Amino acid sequence: MSRLKYRWLGAISALCIFAAGCGGISAAKAVPEMVEKTEFIFGTLVSLKLYEPVSDSEFLSVFEALRGIEGRMTAKGASGELAAINSNAGVAPVQVSAETLKVIVTAKSYAEASEGAFDPTVLPLVSLWGIGTEGAKVPTQQEIDRARAQTGYKDLIIDEDNSTVFLSRAGMGLDLGGIAKGYGADQTAAKLKALGVESGIINLGGNVFALGNRADGSPWRVGVQNPESQRGEYLGICTVHDQTLVTSGIYERYLEADGKRYHHIIDLKTGYPVENQLAGVSILSKDSMEADALSTSCFVLGPEKGLHLVESLPDTEIMFITKDKKIMMTEGFAKVFKLTDDSFTIVESLQ
Ligand code: ADP
Ligand code: MG
Repeated sequence: MSRLKYRWLGAISALCIFAAGCGGISAAKAVPEMVEKTEFIFGTLVSLKLYEPVSDSEFLSVFEALRGIEGRMTAKGASGELAAINSNAGVAPVQVSAETLKVIVTAKSYAEASEGAFDPTVLPLVSLWGIGTEGAKVPTQQEIDRARAQTGYKDLIIDEDNSTVFLSRAGMGLDLGGIAKGYGADQTAAKLKALGVESGIINLGGNVFALGNRADGSPWRVGVQNPESQRGEYLGICTVHDQTLVTSGIYERYLEADGKRYHHIIDLKTGYPVENQLAGVSILSKDSMEADALSTSCFVLGPEKGLHLVESLPDTEIMFITKDKKIMMTEGFAKVFKLTDDSFTIVESLQ
């Protein structure tokens, strides 16, 4: 197992699922057995915990579908739809599948809604920094300026009628790392429901989808990662039902250099990893793709603007966690959240 995979072992436990020992199961009621399978996809551990009998071939088909999404939407490698869009930057529009189009359209809409805080054309900067890869390094200012000049969501041209995507300047590149796992979680939830699975937990390394209720009928309890800890320690528990909980944070992938920690979410205005008071942002909602884009957006926007964006969206709750261990959340989040680590303090505002 590579060093990178070890690092991701920390991230998989980013959100600990409490499948047992909470909720008073009556002795008489037979609780179906839980089946769990884990695979390495999207550069992270993907785990499925299901309470319905699912055959090995059905499990396999769910993981295969996720690998298909990864293949189409990864910026790495020479094949795949994203790779085709990127190698045709400044050259020609590229026709893509309906699902890749949908994810890119959503990514662009979050770029617009966040005024570029979220920007899927971030690839030149992501590649330059290489955070999370063996080649991670702090670039020179000249390199950063050059890469920054090759970003900009306004030059991402989508033609929905013809299903084409075009990056209008040479050197540009799309990176769907801030949104594709959410899409994968939604697709997995839909596929499992179609297979008749009514109860389970889908975890794509920080993107959690809780299907239905637990086998005994009580809601799922999902731990919220302590963003300062790598080992899957949680700071509190969320009670969720048919919802997704998505976290973006500084604990996931980072580079330590010159006594500083550089993490993997980029501020396109500076070309550097975001530097603000935040350690993590969690979104609670029904749609994992939207929650994924939103958690990254709000991490970059910071508490004030991030809260403003979330308040404009229905059925969406947010929690901000600061580096100095303060927690601010919307009322709807507070209703389902229980703090378990008393070194954190819940505050009304972060100003
Ligand atoms: P993770 O994928 O680690 O769970 P996020 O959902 O927050 O975390 O996405 C971070 C990823 O998104 C980065 O690894 C990179 O691929 C991409 N990214 C980095 N900065 C931005 C940004 N400002 N806007 C959009 N995508 C970004
Ligand atoms: Mg995200």
